[in-house]
Amino acid sequence: MNFSKKKKVVMAFTVEKCTKCNAMKKRTFSDGDTLFAPSSKCASCGEIASIEKIFGETLDE
Ligand SMILES: [Zn+2]
Repeated sequence: MNFSKKKKVVMAFTVEKCTKCNAMKKRTFSDGDTLFAPSSKCASCGEIASIEKIFGETLDE
């Protein structure tokens, strides 16, 4: 059975937002990412950014 003519790949992304300066950073989702959980350090102010959004994007292969 062939459901799609084109092969699609779903990529998961994580958006981190700094609570201090509101800088946002988009990166690929990594295992263990949880919404609103503290994530990596903000690149501009050094504050710990938290996860603002996790979403999937469909990409054409
Ligand atoms: Zn910041």
